Amino acid sequence: MPGMAKKTTGNKSTTKKTAKKPGTKKKRTSGPDAATKQRAVTIYDKLAKQYPQAKCALDHEDAFQLLIATMLSAQCTDERVNMVTPVLFKKWSTPKKLAAAKQEDVEKVIHSTGFFRQKAKSLIATSTDITEKHGGKVPDTMDELTSLRGVARKTANVVLGNAYGQNVGVVVDTHVRRLTNRMGFTKHEDPVKIEQDLMATFPRDDWTMLSHLLIWHGRKTCNARKPDCANCVLKDDCPKIGVETKKK
Ligand code: SF4
Repeated sequence: MPGMAKKTTGNKSTTKKTAKKPGTKKKRTSGPDAATKQRAVTIYDKLAKQYPQAKCALDHEDAFQLLIATMLSAQCTDERVNMVTPVLFKKWSTPKKLAAAKQEDVEKVIHSTGFFRQKAKSLIATSTDITEKHGGKVPDTMDELTSLRGVARKTANVVLGNAYGQNVGVVVDTHVRRLTNRMGFTKHEDPVKIEQDLMATFPRDDWTMLSHLLIWHGRKTCNARKPDCANCVLKDDCPKIGVETKKK
């Protein structure tokens, strides 16, 4: 009964714990099972077939341009960023030049991307770090990238995957978060935890393209408000978690 003290006899022999035999340790059950991993492969293949043109939506010619574009894309559409970056890179084409730019001049150019004061500050600080600590070249490791001022893991993943061809992690944005929850590959809302779940589920070679495919599918079919499950290429593979399907 709740609150009732446990009766003890004081006899040591009655409370003696049974020693665990070697090899009887309970197995850990964390991580996706084989069926989930197979479903992940199926879903990836179907999306790859559906969107053969899927790629990074931010226009760029090198790692520096992609890094700057990704930093600008926070709380802003990729289309808007693509309108701003040609002007930005015409004025300041290298980390060294951007590092030496006046904050108010950068603010004017990037104004329409929102949060322009903080973004201008970050762009100049990051460019300064690249110039002073990395010889003017954007570094190609997660540790070095995330040590740059204003660069978090998501931005580093974008650069490593798309500019350097390295599958170090999975980019988790609002589309990836929504879709992977609906598809039952994660139960988390925290991007870091979602990324860990996806890295455990999908083959490493697919990590960079996986984000692009999910983002394309999120825009075209699995929208936030009205996912078109009836016409979705994944309707037989997706548990549609949290999605209200229309009753006939
Ligand atoms: S079946 Fe529905 S919930 Fe699942 S991916 Fe397709 S549109 Fe999204």
